[in-house]
Amino acid sequence: MRKNVLLLATVLTGSSVRASAQGVASSAPITDIRYEVTFTRANGARRQVASAMTFTVGGTEPVLLSLPAWTPGAYEIANFARDVLNFSAEQAGTSLAWDKIDPDTWRIRPRGVGEVTVRFDYLADSLDNANTWARPDFLLFNGTNLFPYPEGKGFDFPSSVTVNTDAGWKIVTGMTAAGPHRYAASNYHDLVDMPFFVGQFDLDSTQISGTWVRFATYPSGSVTGGARVAVWEALKLVIPAEIKVFGEVPWTTYSVMQITDPAYGGGSGLEHQNSHVDVVGPGMLGTPVLPSLYAHEIFHAWNVKRLRPSDLWPYRYDQEQPTPLLWISEGITDYYADLAEVRGGVVDANGFYVMTSDKMSEVSSLPPTALEDASLSTWIHPRDGTEYIYYPKGSLAGFLIDIMIRDASDNHSSLDDVMRTLYSAAYKNGRGFTSDEWWSTVNKVARGKSFADFYARYIDGRQPFPYDRVLLLAGLRLARDTVHVPQLGISSLQDSTGVHVTEVIPESSAAAAGVRPGDPLISVAGLNADDPNWTDKFRARYARQPEGTALPIIVRRNGAEQTLTARLHFVTRVDSRLIEDARASSRARRVRDGLLRGTTTP
Ligand SMILES: [Zn+2]
Repeated sequence: MRKNVLLLATVLTGSSVRASAQGVASSAPITDIRYEVTFTRANGARRQVASAMTFTVGGTEPVLLSLPAWTPGAYEIANFARDVLNFSAEQAGTSLAWDKIDPDTWRIRPRGVGEVTVRFDYLADSLDNANTWARPDFLLFNGTNLFPYPEGKGFDFPSSVTVNTDAGWKIVTGMTAAGPHRYAASNYHDLVDMPFFVGQFDLDSTQISGTWVRFATYPSGSVTGGARVAVWEALKLVIPAEIKVFGEVPWTTYSVMQITDPAYGGGSGLEHQNSHVDVVGPGMLGTPVLPSLYAHEIFHAWNVKRLRPSDLWPYRYDQEQPTPLLWISEGITDYYADLAEVRGGVVDANGFYVMTSDKMSEVSSLPPTALEDASLSTWIHPRDGTEYIYYPKGSLAGFLIDIMIRDASDNHSSLDDVMRTLYSAAYKNGRGFTSDEWWSTVNKVARGKSFADFYARYIDGRQPFPYDRVLLLAGLRLARDTVHVPQLGISSLQDSTGVHVTEVIPESSAAAAGVRPGDPLISVAGLNADDPNWTDKFRARYARQPEGTALPIIVRRNGAEQTLTARLHFVTRVDSRLIEDARASSRARRVRDGLLRGTTTP
């Protein structure tokens, strides 16, 4: 998963309620499981999709069917059962009695041996890559939303999916085709890890590193001409650089599935074993954020979908599955996204330094938070700004560990060796990896160098990273600039209903002016709030104005526009820029070049 924050706008997330099937009860055995999804123009108009599940029972014992509470990769409880409508069950043409035994588990009472069909409609109005979203001519769905599983029976059952849709409409999914509009999965984990696009959208494909890659984009025409060529160019550069880390391609066909919608304020990707789904606002198209997002999500095909912390192996779907190692699964994935870009040639070394410096600035602006604690806490979305700190901070941890391994081994080994070793030791043996295994592999690859102190201070602990000491080992250093920047103290988000204030920093000038979270925002200091660049323009326009200058903020309250007056306020910030050290030793230059090129000294 990656959520990009666009300017000061934040991505909306639903409220999370922790409630789920507890797994004590167990369903009667069911066999020959088939799912059927129906999505036509009529469904699109209603923004509902129909799901049916048919299976065979051996008697009258109750069947317990659960819907997942979350989609792996999107670490939040979403309770998909909330979106179920018109639930029914039938056997041989007559309806069956059913009730619920917990918020997302249905108990169905068969009348005897034979085939049972369960049906429901699902509300498809959530523009979220972990959920289901319909337009008049298009549907995104995840199996976690539409495919119930028998409670307490494990996830190793095979099943098939048939999609009924209008003539001429396309279907894209990572699932294996088993007939016209029919797909098969050998187990439930694979079934729900392969989302679908159904309807009218653009689709093309090409071969990269000997495998097929597809690019599906909705709405039709959203990524065309030069923009589409640029996406393909970026994919052709980053994918081979990522394959080189692990030495193998884990998919036969990979699908990049992208939705562009003006109601989406930022950009977000959700990874799967042979696809990923991006949801982006139009403002993201053509920006450097997109290649970076693709590189991140595709790297997940190895790191987290296959090489996965043991706390997440196997996935369970009925409750939270916290791990202290998400900084490896997400943060180090983000480090490799940057590496894939520089190693593939999407950006040059300076581009890599800028991305890394930005991560340093982001981390330094947030409360000191241990990577392990942040990894565990993400499920409850902490509201102190650290909700996603394990991305940039975990990325920087990977960067520092990589440098230390390369230095300790005189660039004979690297973090790539750690990834490759664990991939083979854990994933290839059908299991997850533990924290002990991670650190013992780092230690071994670094020729016996101890990371115990590093772990205690910077991963388990909250001490600021030792940038100066470690960067030196890679012929890099930080140039620090002290800057004074105007700060208003509000975050805003644009959605289909307009721009709203999402957050007001306490004691800020916006707070003093009376701006409140939820206020519809019309303009700020003469800048239209629906301009996606208003925050940058604000900082530029007021950089040299005197402190205390009046700033009119227009909000809408009770149907009328109201002008509040804030006072210009400056904050002092130390910006760090990662630069090359002109006095770097030849050993340090070997480390730097090896890291940027993805090479070690033979
Ligand atoms: Zn991710």
